[in-house]
Amino acid sequence: MELNSIQCVSSSDVTDENEIHHHQIQPQFVSSKPHNNVVSSGIHPTTSVNELLECPVCTNSMYPPIHQCHNGHTICSTCKARVQNRCPTCRQELGDIRCLALEKVAKSLELPCKYCSRGCPEIFPYYSKLKHETLCDFRPYNCPYAGSECSVTGDIPYLINHLREDHKVDMQSGCTFNHRYVKSNPREVENATWMLTVFKCFDQYFCLHFEAFQLGMAPVYMAFLRFMGDETNARDYSYSLEVGGNGRKLIWEGTPRSVRDGHRKVRESNDGLIIQRNMALFFSGGERKELKLRVTGRIWKERQNPDGEVIIPNLST
Ligand SMILES: [Zn+2]
Ligand SMILES: [Zn+2]
Ligand SMILES: [Zn+2]
Ligand SMILES: [Zn+2]
Repeated sequence: MELNSIQCVSSSDVTDENEIHHHQIQPQFVSSKPHNNVVSSGIHPTTSVNELLECPVCTNSMYPPIHQCHNGHTICSTCKARVQNRCPTCRQELGDIRCLALEKVAKSLELPCKYCSRGCPEIFPYYSKLKHETLCDFRPYNCPYAGSECSVTGDIPYLINHLREDHKVDMQSGCTFNHRYVKSNPREVENATWMLTVFKCFDQYFCLHFEAFQLGMAPVYMAFLRFMGDETNARDYSYSLEVGGNGRKLIWEGTPRSVRDGHRKVRESNDGLIIQRNMALFFSGGERKELKLRVTGRIWKERQNPDGEVIIPNLST
């Protein structure tokens, strides 16, 4: 298995600026269609309060300060900062008018979490809904693929498929593994050097990461496991990693981190098997010309503590 830096090209090259430009043109087009409730000069009788609180430019929910133009068209504060004082709906000068009435209406609302269709039963006052949604257990997961800024999100089955199809990630099943990481030029250590393998065991998915990076001044290799699910479920599992050669070995035992924690965060908290380069080259044998590491590992299910209490070390840095 070759360990090389791989580049992933981000597919999103549409800037916000372009989007706003697009919407700036739109109003003239829709003004002849009064039933379009996204941007219309009057309020259609069936327009819900919820729709009124949707910014007509970016369609996100609006939070104070909500602004309006002289003609009463509302706009969120993020979009207001981008439209250069022109109302995107009527193209008149925007000015600096707060829409206090709408802000007060928003305050009186109680809305379901936006992940209600994924199973979240919670209902929140409008202004605390957003905060909940950033922490909601039902929110989608980010793609766990390391080394690129992949913006794909989804539930675990969706991401498994995405990892397999789009990132060509190696998928394996079983709770033990035996991996060889080979690099022909171990002098090259870049942050972009990493490997990801996904394991399926206990009907769950685990991401095995192997990364090479600089820790302070020293180049190091690190292997760690992330659980594809939430932190509370991650604690039900443990794993061990072992690397060695020349009659020496290093063993790491730990609890997988949730994929909610980015791989960079896990790396920065050193929560995994860390191999200094000199040791890695020693393990590789030969004349230190090639990196050849054999990492073996095992994942097991922890017995549930009857009290349900698990002591987690404070890993925050
Ligand atoms: Zn907006
Ligand atoms: Zn306007
Ligand atoms: Zn929720
Ligand atoms: Zn991805």
